[in-house]
Amino acid sequence: MYKKILITGGAGFLGSHLCERLLKEGNEVICVDNFFTGSKENIAHLLGKPYFEVIRHDVTFPLYLEVDQIYNLACPASPVYYQHDPVQTTKTSVHGAINMLGLAKRLNARILQASTSEVYGDPEVHPQTEDYWGKVNPIGIRSCYDEGKRCAETLFFDYQRQHNLDIKVVRIFNTYGPRMLPNDGRVVSNFIVQALKGEEITIYGDGSQTRSFCYVDDLIEAMLRMMATQEGFTGPVNIGNPCEFTMLELAEKVIALTGSQSKLVYCPLPSDDPRQRQPDISLARQELGWEPKVNLEDGLKSTIAYFRNKLKEN
Ligand code: NAD
Ligand code: UDP
Repeated sequence: MYKKILITGGAGFLGSHLCERLLKEGNEVICVDNFFTGSKENIAHLLGKPYFEVIRHDVTFPLYLEVDQIYNLACPASPVYYQHDPVQTTKTSVHGAINMLGLAKRLNARILQASTSEVYGDPEVHPQTEDYWGKVNPIGIRSCYDEGKRCAETLFFDYQRQHNLDIKVVRIFNTYGPRMLPNDGRVVSNFIVQALKGEEITIYGDGSQTRSFCYVDDLIEAMLRMMATQEGFTGPVNIGNPCEFTMLELAEKVIALTGSQSKLVYCPLPSDDPRQRQPDISLARQELGWEPKVNLEDGLKSTIAYFRNKLKEN
């Protein structure tokens, strides 16, 4: 059924794909973004569509709109950007959540929070299940993001308990695909851009740390399914691809798929960098009937094609 949907952070990497998908399904979409890490380019192909609207707005300030559903994605996701102005990062997660929850409460609207695997910190439980509370440094350089997102989850569940709000929380694991920023510092975009430019591939630490990479289309499908679950099912639900790789394995795959001559260079490991990360997606399988379909090789191929074009344009 047609809905009026607000997406905060809608001009970002994930947000732009979500806008596109929800418009395609016949909804009216309002994209709210302050363009810190998002761009008009990401949504340029949607501008001019009659049921798409963009508002330049910082979610740390209140917002008055009339909508049926809210997807709250506003927050820089890459360490380089979220550490650039850490106070603003915490404000975005915490004040942003309060403002969007307040809006949802006034409208009696369903609201979904884009939380993160970072709530597990450097995990002692592997793979991570939703009932694991995490091992997070509260005062480190990643804390503005990790603790901001943890507090946002707290706010979501308190609004649910206190005001009976219809909430949904997904914990997103590393996701990649077209429209990541070429310079945003995340590992997939870094390696691909470095390989395509023939530059050295920067391995942080010894490259034995692991991540599990989910292709953007799979992730968007899971978010939509979560939003459509029956009232009372709040999550949190892990969404991600359980196939786990070391950063060295990722670098080798990127080099092979780009045909690059790039060499590896070893750089210091950033502090609090989690050693390993892999989602347990049993709950998503059970409640959403979902699992990822795109394997790393196919996902990398389309992401590489995107960056090839992008580098040609510049
Ligand atoms: P992104 O940086 O591309 O998108 C974030 C968007 O939020 C950008 O368009 C940015 O301009 C906007 N934004 C930032 N601060 C804002 C503010 N104060 N007011 C309004 N807009 C603001 O990142 P992404 O990868 O698309 O991530 C989207 C969401 O998903 C984030 O909340 C992130 O924490 C979460 N997430 C992403 C991943 C991933 O691997 N991509 C993993 C876990 C969680
Ligand atoms: N990483 C790397 N080289 C890079 C960028 C990142 O080896 O050029 C490593 C980083 O140290 C981390 C992993 O890749 O262990 C994933 O980093 P990213 O910033 O993409 O995501 P996150 O650490 O938030 O999961």
